[in-house]
Amino acid sequence: MKKLLISVVLLTAAVLAKAEDVRPPNISFDQLLKEITSVELPQAPEPALEKSALPAADGRYWVTVKAADKYVRTRLLEAGMDIVEINKDSVSGFAGPYTMDQLSSKFFSVLSKVPAAQYIARFNKDFPAQDAAYHNFKETTDLLNQMASKHSDIASLFSIGKTVEGRDIWCLRINSNARGTTPSAKPGALYIGNHHAREHLSNEVPLLLAAWLLDHRNDADVKKYIATLDIYIIPMLNPDGAEFDIKTGSYQYYRKNMAVNADKSRGVDLNRNYDSWWCQAGASSYPGSDTYCGPRAFSEPESQAVKRFIEARKNLKTHISYHSYASEILYPWGGSEEDVPNVQDKQVFIKVAAEMGKLTRYEPIKSSDMYVATGDSCDWAYAAAGIFAFTFELEGRGFYPGAAVLTNAVTNNIKAAVYLLSVTDNPYKVI
Ligand SMILES: [Zn+2]
Repeated sequence: MKKLLISVVLLTAAVLAKAEDVRPPNISFDQLLKEITSVELPQAPEPALEKSALPAADGRYWVTVKAADKYVRTRLLEAGMDIVEINKDSVSGFAGPYTMDQLSSKFFSVLSKVPAAQYIARFNKDFPAQDAAYHNFKETTDLLNQMASKHSDIASLFSIGKTVEGRDIWCLRINSNARGTTPSAKPGALYIGNHHAREHLSNEVPLLLAAWLLDHRNDADVKKYIATLDIYIIPMLNPDGAEFDIKTGSYQYYRKNMAVNADKSRGVDLNRNYDSWWCQAGASSYPGSDTYCGPRAFSEPESQAVKRFIEARKNLKTHISYHSYASEILYPWGGSEEDVPNVQDKQVFIKVAAEMGKLTRYEPIKSSDMYVATGDSCDWAYAAAGIFAFTFELEGRGFYPGAAVLTNAVTNNIKAAVYLLSVTDNPYKVI
């Protein structure tokens, strides 16, 4: 217990020290990469599993349930299970009290369960200490501001809206002759991270992509893209959730936004809240569950902001939404087992996903081949606006893969993101 108290004090000190960090102005991509590469990775101590040492119990369990195919996986999502890992004959993930009730029916077979607090304690890494290289909301905001002011001739920063808790959802725009929200006729590419709170790696990739593009603005190909395209990067769509996930110094495995639901439970799953077969397969209408679709499509300020953003920009052609973790590149549909009906579009999706798969070593697959999940942002972006939209499930074993994965994930994903820029002028040229 004493040992624990000491580590709590040390961790608190680390948090405070981090908050006072002053980053050098106009930090460059190379500096950032050096920072994330040079982070030392202390061996995580074997956590004590005494009851008193566990984070506050929230009634959730970490469960493994028999699931031989995507149909069972889809049913499990509908029962509110937060599927985290997919194995050959089973899936593992989080289940709250409502979901545990559903799982006890004869349709499901629970192979194992441990209280979520116990599971979390086993893998607990502290964001400010081992994972100091990751950027919280303030650090992300500061960096974006620095990039926009250092490269003010081609970069501008604006908010696409506010979150439930009133934080700004920042968007960095890179365009040689249009700033802020001024319309542009150039073909557009959009990169969004962090729909899901605990998927912190999905913030790092687009954030560092922005830094890389600006630092490499004079490379021949990048120069051409900046001159001819309209590039938007929104690294942190769900800053409320991301901050909640780290604010105690212990990861909370929190997925949703911070909406207060009618039954006083917290959060809507933002990637079940878009108007694409909203709240049908693979989503839950029970507010307490991790896959809660919300009271109606686009009920949340964060998904509304994306809707407004996309609807106002008819020039958008390509899009990546970053998530973690599975090392997969997913293309529509996610909410239906069908292929997209337009044969040419389907070929473009398959070809572009395959090329990006080579650069990242991720597996390209149709989203619903993993499981059917409705209300997904990329399905909506394609259906509503014809955008070639891809969901990246980034790498790492777990939601908190540590700083060690950053260099590879960032470097390879920049290649894939730049490849997407290379086809944004006319995605049909790949077929
Ligand atoms: Zn996600």
